[in-house]
Parts: sequence; C-alpha cells; structure tokens
Amino acid sequence: MTGEEIDIVIEDGKISAITAAGQAHGDIGWSGQELAGAPATSEVSSLPGRVDATDETGMASASPVYVSSGWIDMHVHAFPEFDPYGDEIDEIGVKRGVTTIVDAGSCGADRIGDLVAGGKQADTNLLAFLNISRIGLKRIDELSKLAWIDREKVKQSIAAYGDSIVGLKARISHSVVRESGVEPLRIARELSRETGLPLMVHIGSAPPDIREVIPLLQRKDIITHYLNGKANNLFDAAGEPLQVLRDAISRGVHLDVGHGTASFSFRVAEAAKRHGIGPDTISTDIYRGNRLNGPVYSMANVLSKFLYLGYPLEEAIAAVTTRAAQWLGREELGRIRVGDPANLTLFTVEDKPITLVDSEGEQRVSDRRIEAKGVITHGKFIKCEVRA
Ligand SMILES: [Zn+2]
Repeated sequence: MTGEEIDIVIEDGKISAITAAGQAHGDIGWSGQELAGAPATSEVSSLPGRVDATDETGMASASPVYVSSGWIDMHVHAFPEFDPYGDEIDEIGVKRGVTTIVDAGSCGADRIGDLVAGGKQADTNLLAFLNISRIGLKRIDELSKLAWIDREKVKQSIAAYGDSIVGLKARISHSVVRESGVEPLRIARELSRETGLPLMVHIGSAPPDIREVIPLLQRKDIITHYLNGKANNLFDAAGEPLQVLRDAISRGVHLDVGHGTASFSFRVAEAAKRHGIGPDTISTDIYRGNRLNGPVYSMANVLSKFLYLGYPLEEAIAAVTTRAAQWLGREELGRIRVGDPANLTLFTVEDKPITLVDSEGEQRVSDRRIEAKGVITHGKFIKCEVRA
C-alpha cells in the first residue's frame, strides 16, 4: 500500500474497508462506546500520506499524518517492579506509539508468569524473551552464577506461557556473566536446540571477546545492541565491520538496535550505514530511567535518529512493523488489511530541529523528527504523549 493515499474505515475495532482517498464516507468510522470523544470522521491514509483537517483527536498538525500498522518494539523492559531495568507497560507501549512490546528478558522462570499477567491488564500487547537465568533482572549480574540457569524451569515456563514467549534471552557481557565467560551462551544454545526457540543475545563489554560470542549465533538468533560503541563492539577502530559480523549476517543472524542507556553510538551507526549494514529491527531498550532522562525517551526519538542517519522513512518504519512482525512469525501485526483488528500507529514527520543524543553523549542536530500522535488498538484510540 506504500505510496497511495487511502481511507481506512474502522467498525467495532476492525478494519472494514480500505478505499482510495476520498471515496469512503466517514473515513475513520468509529463505533463502540469506548470511542466516545473520538472524531466521527477524519481521513487517514497509508504511508506516505496525510490526515486531512477534521481533527478532534488533538492530532491537528501542519504536517501530514501517516499511518502504519502498530509499531513493534523488540527490546523493552516492562516489568515495573525491577529497578533499574523496568517500567510500566503502557508508558513504554501505547503512550509512545508502540502497540506491541517484546520484553527482552526482564524475567526468567521465577517471574515470567507475573510479567505475562501484567501484559493482560495493559492496552499494549506484550510478548517476551525468557531470560535463561531464573532470577532475570532482579540482579544485573544474572548469569554470574551458573546455578541460576535452571534448565527444567526454562522448559516449564515455556510450557506454561508459550503463547507469550518468543525466544530466550542471554546477556553476554562482562558485568552480567562475570567469570562465567561464554558458558551461559553455550547453555543457551543447548536450550534453544531443545526448545526450538531462537536466542536474543545482548552484547557489550569484554570479556568474553565479541569474536568468541558471535560465532555461537545461528540463523534467526538476534544480536541486540549491534550499534554499541563500547571497546568490544562489532566494528574496528577504522569503522570496518569485523569478520564475525559479516559471517553472522550471511548466516541469517538478525541485527537489532536495542538503543538503551549505553548501547547506541552515532559513530558506529554511521560506520554501519557506510557499509550498508542496516538494522533488521529498530528497538529502544527503554525503561524508566532512559525514558525520563534520555538518551532513549521514546521509539519516535530512536526512529528520528535513523532518519538523521539517512535511512528512508519507509525503511525505518518497516524496521518497527513488517520486519519485526515477520521475525515474530505474526504477519498480522505488520499489515493493514480488511477484516483484521485495527492495530495502527499515527505519526508525523515534523520539520522542527531536534538535538539527538546517543549513548556516548554525542549529539547530532537533525532538521526533522518523527512524532507519534496516537494508536488504534483493542477498539480504541489512545493519544500519545509527545515530549516538549
Ligand atoms: Zn535491555
């Protein structure tokens, strides 16, 4: 649908028609009581396109309003109890334009049930990577004791919560594994084989050396934090990609951003762009601290960084919609189709300068920014909070 202007008609939370712009009456047609206060009509079009004037949603904007399928954030921390790596589900989900979040291993077997239960109470859809450490991010050195990896409990969790669990998470950097080296990753590899679930592997400071870590990853596994600027990253001092990265890409290993407080460097991202090593998925690694104080703030802020880097809008949006949905094997989350539940994100690209900050404290000034305006999910319109 990219490139056409269309009207989308929504009835009872479902997309009932998609027509060429101007041909439908009541272009977003609302029904259902929970939609009181939403506009009777307003025109929405596909990416790229525009919402026309009628606007009681508070989305009024000089810029065209785009619509995509609901954004998917492949790396968040959504277990509010845990500190520092935790937050309220809807704060990092629908209020930031993201209709589906994938928790990146906040919980292991001990608390995954509580995380999934929290997801059922929220407006945001929640999926999760299960931390191979039963304690999850209750501590931030969760793989420093191998006894915390309880293989039976991993399998029991998958049996109980398999609908929500999309993979296994192992954080393989020095502060997490301490003296365990790559041993937790070897165990994760075995668990992956036994359960059929792919791995999401966090990379960071050595030891273990990144050259020992990456070769253990297979097709469909995810490297998160692939643009981190630490000494042990995936590019050499001249900005050349390491051979282990090139090999991983040819094996079909998936590259995820996972911006976070410490894991996104403009310098590295610029080198990656020069070498055509773009992200498969763009994710935030958002939690309370980096949402409120930066440098993450929101998915829109992270997407704005990729526009600044020179990625086309369509590509940046695909990295949080179709490509994420494809990896998840849930194509319906990444499309706009008649008969599907309405799962949409409305956003603008504003010609307003913004200072973007990476995890190294480096700044870039961009002349445009993406702003999430609202989402439509579970039959309602939810307005996004935009940072002033
Ligand atoms: Zn994380």
